[in-house]
Amino acid sequence: MNQHMRPEPIPFIDISAQRQRLGKSIDEAVARVLTHCQFINGPEVTALEKALAEYSGAKHVVTCASGTDALLMVLMAKNVGPGDAVFCPSFTFCATGESVALTGATPVFIDVDEATFNIDANSLKRGIATAKARGLKPVGVIPVDLFGQSADHDAVAAVAKAEGLFVLDDAAQGFGASYKGRKLGTFGLATATSFFPAKPLGCFGDGGAISTDDDDLANTLRSIRVHGQGSDKYDNVRLGLTGRLDTMQAAILIEKLKIFEDEIAARNVIADRYSRGLGNVVTVPQLASGSTSVWAQYTIRLPKGTDRDAFAVALKAQGVPTAIYYTKSMHQQTAYRDFPVADGGLPVSESLSEDVISLPMHAYLDEAAQDRIIQAVRGALSS
Ligand SMILES: *Cc1c(COP(=O)(O)O)cnc(C)c1O
Repeated sequence: MNQHMRPEPIPFIDISAQRQRLGKSIDEAVARVLTHCQFINGPEVTALEKALAEYSGAKHVVTCASGTDALLMVLMAKNVGPGDAVFCPSFTFCATGESVALTGATPVFIDVDEATFNIDANSLKRGIATAKARGLKPVGVIPVDLFGQSADHDAVAAVAKAEGLFVLDDAAQGFGASYKGRKLGTFGLATATSFFPAKPLGCFGDGGAISTDDDDLANTLRSIRVHGQGSDKYDNVRLGLTGRLDTMQAAILIEKLKIFEDEIAARNVIADRYSRGLGNVVTVPQLASGSTSVWAQYTIRLPKGTDRDAFAVALKAQGVPTAIYYTKSMHQQTAYRDFPVADGGLPVSESLSEDVISLPMHAYLDEAAQDRIIQAVRGALSS
């Protein structure tokens, strides 16, 4: 590369490349909505729910306004509230624990597994004991399929079953991944996902969905989504939200879902290539046996003693953007630091927050860009 030219920056995620690929099909889908003008509860919403149910194998899919609402609506449907404890990993996006706190219940933070970054079942057992010792009633657990990799759902289910907890899977990053040959969306009581633009299956605004096999829960969620509406439109039977996904986003998602499997395959090829190029200089992400990933993020751990900020600056100088998910685990953040953590503390979450960094990852990252990224990482670590 010419030493005197600043290398062209590589985008961290590239929504415009996908937009180009989908070109006319998105424009036409949007035009159909502009023609029928049913911006709320239009036919595309039902069509998307059906397509998502077919895709994931879940009996019901209820679309909603965001991934956070998807989590919150399930907790509301389960009447979770003050005095209840809901367990979630601390090393996650804040919405996981936020949804619990919004109901008035207590999020109890659990540590994660060093290799997969997903919830650690032994720490979960300790967290349940911690909650009971504080006089809280354990009611549910929210495993997260972090960075796109499916959590160990059998291990979570075993603890949940023994303790009578419901399982709400936070698949905001992992929708499309599978566990032991079955797609996410069918583990536990319900699965929440997000269609925020940067998620593997993103729309062009905010959106989310809940999947469940439970008929009663699906009905309750459909009521909560519209202010707790009952069979008489003017007699609201419970508290709810303005929780709908709008028709325009549904129309866009229907088109994007058609290429989603192909995009997941492309992300996996890139992840493999990264891991081969970087495995001997950093700790590359590991997939547990039985789990697949949709690579919402490709997150490496830097060797002990590496100055992470200087590393990011060195990559940026090569036109390679990075992001840190997450510099603080939830229990280290101002709004959450007074909530309980599992006995024994959360040493893995804390050390991950210090040494992780994520590299650009999207389905349209070409080999030349991948090679530049690999070389930039290797170069920054050898200097
Ligand atoms: C993005 C995300 C959410 C929230 O989704 P929104 O659509 O942004 O509300 C929840 N949990 C996790 C793990 C996420 O990454």
